[in-house]
Amino acid sequence: MITQTCAICEKNNFIVLYPENFNIKKINSRVFSARRLPDRIHYRMVKCKNCHLIYSNPILEYEKIENLYKKSFTSYDEHLENLKVTYGFYLKQLKEKYQKQMIENQSSTLQPQNLSSIIHSPSSRLLEIGCGNGFFLEEAKKQGYEVYGVEPGQPSVDKATPEIKKNIIVDIFKSGQFKNNFFDVICCFQTFDHIPNPNELLTQCYKILKKAGLMLFLNHNIGAWQNKLMGKKSPIIDIEHTYLFDQTTMRKIFEKHHFKVLEVRSSFNIHHTSYWLHLLPIPNFIKIPLIKVLDLTGLGKIKIKIYPGNLVLFAKR
Ligand SMILES: [Zn+2]
Repeated sequence: MITQTCAICEKNNFIVLYPENFNIKKINSRVFSARRLPDRIHYRMVKCKNCHLIYSNPILEYEKIENLYKKSFTSYDEHLENLKVTYGFYLKQLKEKYQKQMIENQSSTLQPQNLSSIIHSPSSRLLEIGCGNGFFLEEAKKQGYEVYGVEPGQPSVDKATPEIKKNIIVDIFKSGQFKNNFFDVICCFQTFDHIPNPNELLTQCYKILKKAGLMLFLNHNIGAWQNKLMGKKSPIIDIEHTYLFDQTTMRKIFEKHHFKVLEVRSSFNIHHTSYWLHLLPIPNFIKIPLIKVLDLTGLGKIKIKIYPGNLVLFAKR
């Protein structure tokens, strides 16, 4: 195990929120796979006295975490179709609200028809960090981007379509994978809070993003009322999460890396009722049969839009 520091002030002046509760022998790649049933195991969770950033400390050595993610998988199911809708919505919003504005500012002399051809230009390059089986990249491609992904889990990448797969690097996101000033947009969905060193990730993003390029990050919000209410029982208090941000700490860490934060707010998700049930803090012996009942009766298929305690951040280089 290694000691972590606060990613914002880089000090180690904390209060303990929850003591660790896991048995190291039971840690395997299943625990590090996306959308598993929450099993509420976690490292010791602490809170920085200066910045109020919540983080896991100590944690497994970085190489051990990397190896667990390399073997992790994403099950390709209907939930991903719902996530595609949610993430696709935010990507459209990024384009409508900020990318369009950026291009308009840069090219106020262009005629409107030229403008729209720039916005839909296929040379607009988009990177997704932690792209799983590439389901969001398919959506981004549909929206006109030239798409790239980085994903450590080989079993997930194996499930990507050939067209998407050829632009996925199977590894942990790190320096040297892309040229500087290469991307127009970098996205990261439900991954940033899994990263043992978020400062390294943001330093790298700043380099490979073009000037005035945009960042779209969506992850858990530890400051959301839902998570505050559930406290230790919240599914986000989990061994996969090395740092847990709220709107303030998310803004702080981006500003530390010289990004201009355009907006941070609560984000919604659309999911089937059975998936929402997945996330509720009730014992598995009740939850699993209940999910089965919902699925058998068809009630599990009802789609609902909920603000589950996530945040979305738009930032500019
Ligand atoms: Zn701090």
